[in-house]
Amino acid sequence: MNSSKSLLVQGYEVVIGFETHAQLSTQSKIFSRAPTAFGAEPNTQACAVDLALPGTLPVMNRGAVEKAIRLGLALGSHIAEQSVFARKNYFYPDLPKGYQISQFEIPVVQGGEVSFFLGDEKKTVRLVRAHLEEDAGKSLHEAFHGMSGIDLNRAGTPLLEIVTEPDMRSSAEAVAYAKELHKIVTWIGVCDGNMQEGSFRCDANVSVRKPGGELGTRREIKNLNSFKFMQQAIDYEVRWQIEQIEDGHAIQQATVLFDPDTGETRAMRTKEDAADYRYFPDPDLPPLVIGRDWVELVKGEMPELPRQMAERLVQTYGLPEYDATTLTQSPAMAAYFETAAQACGQAKLVSNWIMGEVSRRLNAEERDMSGVPVSAAQLAALMGRIADGTVSNNAAKQVFESLWSGEATDVDVVIEAKGLKQMNDSGALEKIIGEVMAANAPMVEQFRAGKDKAFNALVGLVMKASKGKANPQQVNDVLRQKLQ
Ligand code: ADP
Ligand code: MG
Repeated sequence: MNSSKSLLVQGYEVVIGFETHAQLSTQSKIFSRAPTAFGAEPNTQACAVDLALPGTLPVMNRGAVEKAIRLGLALGSHIAEQSVFARKNYFYPDLPKGYQISQFEIPVVQGGEVSFFLGDEKKTVRLVRAHLEEDAGKSLHEAFHGMSGIDLNRAGTPLLEIVTEPDMRSSAEAVAYAKELHKIVTWIGVCDGNMQEGSFRCDANVSVRKPGGELGTRREIKNLNSFKFMQQAIDYEVRWQIEQIEDGHAIQQATVLFDPDTGETRAMRTKEDAADYRYFPDPDLPPLVIGRDWVELVKGEMPELPRQMAERLVQTYGLPEYDATTLTQSPAMAAYFETAAQACGQAKLVSNWIMGEVSRRLNAEERDMSGVPVSAAQLAALMGRIADGTVSNNAAKQVFESLWSGEATDVDVVIEAKGLKQMNDSGALEKIIGEVMAANAPMVEQFRAGKDKAFNALVGLVMKASKGKANPQQVNDVLRQKLQ
């Protein structure tokens, strides 16, 4: 996994660069006051400015610029003091203006990087830029026969397009990058991250080459809106390109779509060059000027970022890097951890339970941390009872179930009511062990004759005889003593 050699697919190196459209969570459009809310009746949310009707003028949304600054700060990018809006000209039914307002030569966010762990290897993907632009409308096909419907509600919705260098070398790395970027944009509150609704969509540029050779010709897989499809689409595309090359065909630069039903990518159109778009500075919009004082102001309002927070969790609570990364999936999860860990002083135990039982139940019920029914204080109380030896880890799971289902709210009351207290009386334990040994003399003999397996069997029998209430460590210790 760690050597780059083992990453080759049939002797080819995979090269991937991403363009991600993050929809900015502003109330109104990027150049107008029309609302951005999702799911309204078609064509009720685009105003004259969004459609560029004669006599209208676009006005920059300050909130969208502030979100661009936040992203730039989070990614360690340069925030341009002056950037320029340009018209990207093309014809498409969902683009009533005949052009899209975007940024071309001078984008607002320049450079920066995204770092993340792939297994235990740290990866860094360099960013080229992130620019502000408006979204287009949407073509609707399903409800129409032999026709297309056009819904312009989305026209003018603010987007940041975030572009990487071609730094990724596998589908797994690409997915890990996209997940990290998704985490960052939602964490800093610039994008709601809702992939089904299209708030975060990725275009994956994929090529293959012989190691050390020139970059191969890329094909761009458009609009990947789930991490699962992302992985499948890239894997398919890589296999397809290698097959073409092996069969002696050159790859043509193209834009392709992934079809989740067939698991295949299909060419949509041959790729335009930038020159085809006839970019030119938008005469209706002055350059975007961002003063240093504004950047400083936004900097002062930035939350602790996931990477920084993970490092702090390692420092403060002595957690392994893996735990810290997992717990910083969302601000809600990190806060839940910290509240519980501080309340009971058992950071690693709390971490194990959040990554284990809590996540398992949340996943099973397709909920996230905002809907967790066991409070951090309850979890802390339960961890305290494991730590002081009152209950075993297994018995604690039964208590947890009661808390989760809402059947009970107080940890100690559940432990009492269900008789889950661990047996900490060594006299009673010795008695049980004596009985088990007497009733299983052949097993005792086997152990003494050198069969280690017999020991585990005896531990199991003692645990059973104690109805699970014996402390397993104590059983181990006392049994070993007695068998000597
Ligand atoms: P465009 O905007 O026309 O799609 P760019 O040159 O801006 O083109 O590149 C878009 C993306 O494609 C970037 O993320 C870049 O890293 C990636 N890319 C460029 N060349 C390759 C290549 N040969 N293989 C894979 N990705 C590439
Ligand atoms: Mg592109």
